[in-house]
Amino acid sequence: MHNQPSAHKSIRRLLVANRGEIAIRIMRTAHQMGIETVAVYSSADANAAHVAYADRAIHIGDAPSEASYLLNKNIIWAAKQTGADAIHPGYGFLSENAGLARACTDTEICFVGPPARVIDEMGAKKVAKNIAQEAGVPVVPGYSGEAQDDARLIEEAKKIGFPLLIKASAGGGGRGMRLVQHESELQEALTEARSESQRAFGNDTLLLERYIEQPRHIEIQILADAHGNVIHLGERECSIQRRYQKILEESPSTAVDADLRERMGADAVALAKKVGYVNAGTVEFILDQEGNYYFLEMNTRLQVEHPITEEVYGVDLVRAQLQIAMGMPLEITQAYVEPMAFALEARLYAEDPANDFMPSNGTLWRWKLPETEGVRIDSGVRENDVVSTYYDPMLAKVIARGPTREETRLRMLRALRAFEIAGVQTNRDFLIDVLEQPAWIAGDTHTHFISTHFPEGWAPKINDALAHQAALAATFYEVHERLCRRTHLPQLVGGFRNNFYAPAEETFTLRDQELSVFYRIRGRHFTPQHLAFDVYDAPTATPTPWKARIEGHTVELTSPDGLMHRWSVHLRSSASDAAQEISVHTQDAAFVLTRAPRFALPVETIEEGSCVSPMSGTVLRQLVQEGDTVTAGQTLLVLEAMKMEHRVTAPTDGIVTTLHVQEGEVVESGIVLAVVERAH
Ligand code: ADP
Repeated sequence: MHNQPSAHKSIRRLLVANRGEIAIRIMRTAHQMGIETVAVYSSADANAAHVAYADRAIHIGDAPSEASYLLNKNIIWAAKQTGADAIHPGYGFLSENAGLARACTDTEICFVGPPARVIDEMGAKKVAKNIAQEAGVPVVPGYSGEAQDDARLIEEAKKIGFPLLIKASAGGGGRGMRLVQHESELQEALTEARSESQRAFGNDTLLLERYIEQPRHIEIQILADAHGNVIHLGERECSIQRRYQKILEESPSTAVDADLRERMGADAVALAKKVGYVNAGTVEFILDQEGNYYFLEMNTRLQVEHPITEEVYGVDLVRAQLQIAMGMPLEITQAYVEPMAFALEARLYAEDPANDFMPSNGTLWRWKLPETEGVRIDSGVRENDVVSTYYDPMLAKVIARGPTREETRLRMLRALRAFEIAGVQTNRDFLIDVLEQPAWIAGDTHTHFISTHFPEGWAPKINDALAHQAALAATFYEVHERLCRRTHLPQLVGGFRNNFYAPAEETFTLRDQELSVFYRIRGRHFTPQHLAFDVYDAPTATPTPWKARIEGHTVELTSPDGLMHRWSVHLRSSASDAAQEISVHTQDAAFVLTRAPRFALPVETIEEGSCVSPMSGTVLRQLVQEGDTVTAGQTLLVLEAMKMEHRVTAPTDGIVTTLHVQEGEVVESGIVLAVVERAH
């Protein structure tokens, strides 16, 4: 605790040069520290969540990031315009752009990150690798020299052996890497890698590295203040990757014990000291099957997966970053850094894992976050937001914490399953599948986990019984809606007689599959909240009895075997002539069903002889008893509403077989009050 008047510079207004979840996450800590926040936004983001969250916001350009979030000068201009005294770049975009750090220094804005020189040095893999070597940190055996001619590279490659990896020195985000299995492929691979790197990064310097088989990706979080104090906050394992990009991260790693943590941590600290690092950074390593680790690169910014470190070590890394930027010394020393929990992060993307993880866009017309104990969700989207093609399609980071890896895994699964999402495809079910793999549970992870365990790619496993239940839940929800909406049923009696023997049918589409529901409402024992149905496998099959209790968007289905299944049903409000989308969700599954528009009221689905309440009101008088013989038109009940009396009459000659209400009872519109069975 510092109770001295501060000698350091202060940050009063922070501009966050980013969008989405990370912008919000940074602002959250800034607000806690009493710092005002400024959001920047492109034309596509005027209504985005991060803009709503900030104290102020400023438009910085057109939708493509090259015309907005990636323009240094626009960011500096925005800071000047809004009177911001500091800029936090988040991750991605300009976070590892030395130009922004330099421009900040030139304009006396505090840059929340390391010095520009360090960003430059660590940004070039070749330079970083050489500095790591000088600091005594093990690096992957390979070549990172000046000479770049083919003859030299080929000679070096032969020394390293095959398979080997060609990397673009300026590469990042998994791009610019090429695996060479055999010497015969080398010449061509070099030519291609060079031109690819030139095109992507404007620099064609290459690196050669031995290809480590089945490694784990282990990275060390470090914090360095401006007074020379450097500490590490343990490791994160990020081996579960698709296209060299992380999707599931954990801390601590199952492969790292206290001794290894200490050695890797000490190396990360040594490297940070060697380059004069200041602020938060990450030193990435790969760990081979024998327990040897090698430096990969250093990320000079906050990482996407930083929250798991926060959960395990009880620190707020953004707070530490801001304090360091203000010139304050670190609040913690290495001796107090101990892993106190287990944490897991899953990245929920708008993408289709069944189609090679292609991004999916659309309007998130249903977006409900789970409220699961021990789970933190960092999200940058809200319901009805448009997930556009302009930016990274990550919807949220789900961060679970627990006392053990297994308990954390179960919490994560519970949270993932509770998300209700419609409007875009997501990788949610894929993440669940990964977390259910025995190899993952056993801690047997490596960077090829996905291709090893899903060699044919991934396909959603549709559980037919659950899909059928989803269709039932959707159907019953809608029957309930219609019953509640109906106020007058003058022609009810005539309406359903013709179709009495044919069950009603609803047809939905789930992906490419058709789901049909044949059902009939059973006249006995139902109000709009408590419905009873006969469900048929086919129109002429023997029916099975289901019950549904409906409240709001919750449909509790009770199957014939007495099991209750809770579903949540949401319809997309769209033009009535458009195909309708229905999000149907339960703890074990989530479906988005579509259906052609419907027009008719299903009056035929109500049992013949039912007397339905035409309005909400009170039963003023009950004139018959169950078992009474009545004639068509005879008054059975008198309802009262708004001081008006309404007679409920027998639809047919017959016997009152069921009477659901009695005098004084309050009834809702659309419920069945009585059933008269026709006399034969
Ligand atoms: P980038 O900067 O593009 O993210 P990295 O050097 O950090 O590239 O590597 C990204 C991923 O590529 C690592 O997490 C690992 O899965 C794989 N990788 C990198 N170097 C090697 C290597 N020498 N052997 C095996 N896999 C590697």
